[in-house]
Amino acid sequence: MGFRLHTVRTREGETIACTIPPRLHDAVAVVMDALDAASYRAYVVGGCVRDVLLGQPVHDVDVATDATPEHVMALFDRTVPTGVQHGTVTVVIADTAIEVTTMRADGEYTDGRRPDHVVFVGHIDADLSRRDFTMNAMAIDREGTLYDPFGGLADAHARILRAVGMPHVRFAEDALRMLRAIRFAAAYALDIDQTTWDDLMAQRHRLRAIAMERVSAELDRMVLSAHAQRAWTLLAQSGLLAFTKVPISLTSDIPSLTALASIDQRWACVLWTQRGVDALAHALRWSHARRRAVAAICAMGDTVHDKTAWCEAVLKYGVRAATACIDVLRARNERPEVLDALTQWTAHMPITSPTALAIDGRVLVEAMGSAGAWVGQCVRELQRDVVHGHIVHAREPLLATAVLRHARRTHVHGWTVYDVDVIDSTQTLAKAAAVRCPDRAVFVARGQHRAYGTQGKVWHAPRDGGLWMSAVVRPPYAYASWGQRAAAVVVAVCHALRQVTDVDVRIKWPNDIVVHGRKLCGILSETTSSHKAWVIGIGINGEMTDAPQDIPLCTLTHVMPPSWSWDAHMQRVREMVLQALAHTLDGHTLFSDVRAQWLAYVDTRPIAVRCPDRVRMAHVVDMTESGSVVVRDTHTGETTELFSAHQREPTLG
Ligand code: ATP
Ligand code: MG
Repeated sequence: MGFRLHTVRTREGETIACTIPPRLHDAVAVVMDALDAASYRAYVVGGCVRDVLLGQPVHDVDVATDATPEHVMALFDRTVPTGVQHGTVTVVIADTAIEVTTMRADGEYTDGRRPDHVVFVGHIDADLSRRDFTMNAMAIDREGTLYDPFGGLADAHARILRAVGMPHVRFAEDALRMLRAIRFAAAYALDIDQTTWDDLMAQRHRLRAIAMERVSAELDRMVLSAHAQRAWTLLAQSGLLAFTKVPISLTSDIPSLTALASIDQRWACVLWTQRGVDALAHALRWSHARRRAVAAICAMGDTVHDKTAWCEAVLKYGVRAATACIDVLRARNERPEVLDALTQWTAHMPITSPTALAIDGRVLVEAMGSAGAWVGQCVRELQRDVVHGHIVHAREPLLATAVLRHARRTHVHGWTVYDVDVIDSTQTLAKAAAVRCPDRAVFVARGQHRAYGTQGKVWHAPRDGGLWMSAVVRPPYAYASWGQRAAAVVVAVCHALRQVTDVDVRIKWPNDIVVHGRKLCGILSETTSSHKAWVIGIGINGEMTDAPQDIPLCTLTHVMPPSWSWDAHMQRVREMVLQALAHTLDGHTLFSDVRAQWLAYVDTRPIAVRCPDRVRMAHVVDMTESGSVVVRDTHTGETTELFSAHQREPTLG
């Protein structure tokens, strides 16, 4: 009949019913039957026997046999030589691992850790006598008969943990058994037998022989068990951890860890009130990942009463650590309102990881034209600003803030000039910056990827190919109407360009400045209602090798003599334009004079006027007192008043 583990019979004839997961049962039956069929003796041994008899859940099954490891490996298809020198082979049956160990007696122990050699023995009692505690030294044969030569079952029922043989000898052989004693006593709620305890206390110094990795593994098993609190009390009572190779100090009183899923959380909970995660991590040879995770949870614990600090910690350590920290706080009986606040704070953060920021260092380096330590610092500042709700989390407001903080800043003719390198658009930058920049700020870029003009047409402004800038002006404005203001700006820029070039630069309604009908400069006026600012974009073509072909353009180098160089005059053009603009915006010119100048500068060629039915050609004939332009249809001779294309930005942050 095949092996079955449903009842166990003691020597005294008592029958004990057993429960073991079917998956494990079937796997161990295959192993027991195969060994038997090959005429080997085989026993179920170790923790499984103990747990099955005490009605505890069984997680794994160990088998002892008189077959040598080589024979075991020959007998089964799938085996792993896990510890052949000690006789252990792992046999895999349908994905379930069964540890099969050749029955052995341990040779002499000279290092306090492991036997110098092992000898394989033919009798189960010899094998059981090398085991550590009486309840771990029982075996069941294939007929279901219990071998319990040291009274392990009676000890377990009497709730006593007792060493097999003379405790001082057993602890001297392998000092790790002292920590195992604590773990088993805690896990099974046992009292440690007096002699076993006394010898443990007397042999504590031997723990120094044990590698910290093994100590660490044993403590992990305690932390992971359902009985960590009891284990910690016993650890404190025994004082064992003061005698390990690297002495460890742990608090004796810990809360229940059972609600905490991960070992990282459990360790964090244990170390909560204790400083020095790093020292312990080092002593216990923790992996870098474990040390980081535990330290993060503990560090977050210091920030729970301060929203700013908490949110910064979430940013630094991540949402996983935050959630883990909240779980640990709950295990430590933190008040529900504190836990709720932390959950809410975290949920409302616009970003919870540094990489989620809508802008990155590369964009800043390109915008500012220089790399350096400031980039990392700036990114961190922006992350914090976003997390604390000081800046809307979008690319343009972030870039604008970075520019206001870090761009080169100069002052000229009442303007604060911010110089940037290459960005998408000075106009979008200026509009975003309008939230917090000073009045009369101007943003000058060396190049723009996505500059835009009237009707939203997007174009590429080549680096150093012209003067690309946008100015922010706040009320009160010098001229009453929008039309007047728009006209005043165009006149000012046109005037400056006439002074610079000394050629016949003209205004082409509504926003262009042309030379012989070819566009030299475009102007775009916008107001941002939300920030009560007027944003004036000005692009003047300086020298462009790859000028767009689709519109008749000209550049300053086209209109100037060959000896004139844009490079050499760039700065002067900029100064003249800013000066002329400042003069106009200060209201130094009466609008009647602006109007007269506008009419004097306006291009006399017919312009295309978009009407509801069609596009008509018309000549400019006048400008009204409010700054509207009057045109006459070239065919019908009819005159019409035009309103300049006033663009209003409806929403912006
Ligand atoms: P757990 O349920 O925690 O796995 P276990 O009793 O199965 O408990 P293991 O470490 O898996 O513990 O060891 C299996 C068996 O091997 C033990 O029951 C014990 O008989 C024996 N054993 C393990 N370690 C030692 C040791 N250091 N000294 C003596 N015997 C040991
Ligand atoms: Mg085990």
